[in-house]
Amino acid sequence: MATTLLPILEAEPLLSGATGSGVRLRDGHGRALTDLRVSVTDRCNYKCVYCRTGNDGAQYSELPIAAYARMLRVFVSLGIEKIRLTGGEPLLRTGLLELVRETAELRPAFTDAPLDIAITTNGHLLAGMAQPLKDAGLSRITISMDAVDPETFTRITRVPGGFERVRAGIRAAQDAGLGPVKINCVLLRGFNESQIEAFAEFSRSERVIVRFIEFMPLEEDRTWTPETVVPMSEIVARLNAVRPLVALPPNHASETARRFTFEDGVGEIGIIAPVSEPFCGHCSRIRLTSDGKLRTCLFSQTDHDLAGLMLRGASDDDMRDWIRGMVQQKEARHHIGEPGFLKPSRSMVHIGG
Ligand code: SAM
Repeated sequence: MATTLLPILEAEPLLSGATGSGVRLRDGHGRALTDLRVSVTDRCNYKCVYCRTGNDGAQYSELPIAAYARMLRVFVSLGIEKIRLTGGEPLLRTGLLELVRETAELRPAFTDAPLDIAITTNGHLLAGMAQPLKDAGLSRITISMDAVDPETFTRITRVPGGFERVRAGIRAAQDAGLGPVKINCVLLRGFNESQIEAFAEFSRSERVIVRFIEFMPLEEDRTWTPETVVPMSEIVARLNAVRPLVALPPNHASETARRFTFEDGVGEIGIIAPVSEPFCGHCSRIRLTSDGKLRTCLFSQTDHDLAGLMLRGASDDDMRDWIRGMVQQKEARHHIGEPGFLKPSRSMVHIGG
């Protein structure tokens, strides 16, 4: 059920631009936090085998759009420069365009560059929304697509008829000027590792950036084992066997993907290897769940109730102080694969990927 918030949301007017917050947000390990992922719903219209159970959950939690908008304004005033709207499936969320529009009016506090606003979507509803999202101020889009073969795609998403819709969504995003489109592909042993070579060709022919992601233990079904992960070394070896890869430099220090092109410079592949080659030392991310909880790591055992604080009447300054305190607890790193590793308190669909 959707959570209801009180008129407290209107306590301070929505302003464009950041309001004097002084010092850039840093965690207790000295890492600057510039990247916020916001789940705007934990509903999803796909049931990807590596993410959800096969059941349709009746329960979901969302905040009013005005609540996310206020929180985003506060975060941007603290030094957030990139916001990724995600879910669940964010395109299911009523009011998404309004949120993008309001967010696009914010100005980062510590740089002259415009705020970078991205969405991660499964693309099912994108064909009709790509242009409105671009017009609302969206900067970039990532589309999840775990196979270039329709049958494999359906076996993973467990929803028939999606493949062509996602293809149409990719084209619509490109036509709307949201390119270069990034395609996220989670590789799952026994499901789609056969697609690696075909995805390389897809990147070249469709002019998209394909990013292979190692499967992490964040699924509802608790099926993850080390054996289900297709590691970066194997992906690189297989791609190299088809066409030699050429490494590309990272776009920025906290880039999660190792980037490659091919000898002729056509196509781009990213490999995100949080399991076999963790990149926690450069982590600049924090997360807000759809019910307004701050999470300092995907693998946190706890989250922190920012929406609750707002409900109790906190001012923007109160929220800033509270956030500064909470991020001190950001974990140094995750412990996937180590003895005693505990799966996080929530699964990916609830945290927001
Ligand atoms: N519904 C949207 C989508 O499909 O892109 C946004 C939410 S989804 C949780 C965000 C991203 O997380 C997707 O690219 C998805 O493939 C990835 N993801 C989900 N579960 C994962 C897992 N256990 N390990 C790695 N990536 C995962």
